[in-house]
Amino acid sequence: MDILQIKKYLNTFRFSKLDPTIKERLTELKKIAVLSGDQEVAKEIWCLEQVYQIIQHYLKAFNLLKKKEYLKAWMQLDRADIEFSFLRKHFDYSGNKYNLEFLEKNIYQFQRLFPYQYFLSRESVTKKERCSICNQTVSIRKSCGHKVGEIYNGEQCSRIVEEIELLGFAIVKNPFDKYTVLMPQDIEYNYFMLENLLQSINHPYTKWNLEVQKEDDVRYKKLGRNANCICDSGIKFKKCCLNNEDRKIKVDHHKITVLDKVSKDIKPIPRTTFRTTKTKE
Ligand SMILES: [Zn+2]
Ligand SMILES: [Zn+2]
Repeated sequence: MDILQIKKYLNTFRFSKLDPTIKERLTELKKIAVLSGDQEVAKEIWCLEQVYQIIQHYLKAFNLLKKKEYLKAWMQLDRADIEFSFLRKHFDYSGNKYNLEFLEKNIYQFQRLFPYQYFLSRESVTKKERCSICNQTVSIRKSCGHKVGEIYNGEQCSRIVEEIELLGFAIVKNPFDKYTVLMPQDIEYNYFMLENLLQSINHPYTKWNLEVQKEDDVRYKKLGRNANCICDSGIKFKKCCLNNEDRKIKVDHHKITVLDKVSKDIKPIPRTTFRTTKTKE
């Protein structure tokens, strides 16, 4: 296959397994481009490699979700998300080139259905690092001239950290790297939303939509007029949230629509982080 054929393959790909020879072929073609000094083609091939990897991570994630291996699936989605952040700087895929807009949307939607909300983030100072392109030791005072994130000879420039001083860890809500999911010991995460969705879709390229709606906390429904309000105001419900929409505690409800031949609706489900009915023995 030449570059044009590979592009066509990736553009029309809507299956559950990628052809592994494409990856090897891209490596070969990139070598040839680099040897002949064609930086532009080498960079173009790097972009195609990213596209290939994104699809691969996405397909792996989908299979793992089907097998209910949620944490492993999360890691694959996170990898795809990171590859996207690299590719975005160098390639404009508007118009759904290589189906990337579809993949980006699905990856984001899947991530939103996970119960994970808190992550560990490392706080550290880098003591020594090298450039991935020229292997030289670099520092703020001594630069090698290569820019991080730029593509040289079809490879992305990054820093290889050799020495690090660890300052500590912090628990954060929305870090760049989301692979250090907090795993509490005695409670189990609730994957109810994903379970529900995956009962309705069997193919990684099925289209589905996620809408997040704000709804009143269900506890209001059972609350008597004279009971203490659930919002911790210390006053009676009738004098508090009952007639005050702005005050009311709102909960995210996730509504999923499967846009298939037969359109299916998955009713709104409230977000639950942990299981409330089942605890680990
Ligand atoms: Zn360098
Ligand atoms: Zn209230």
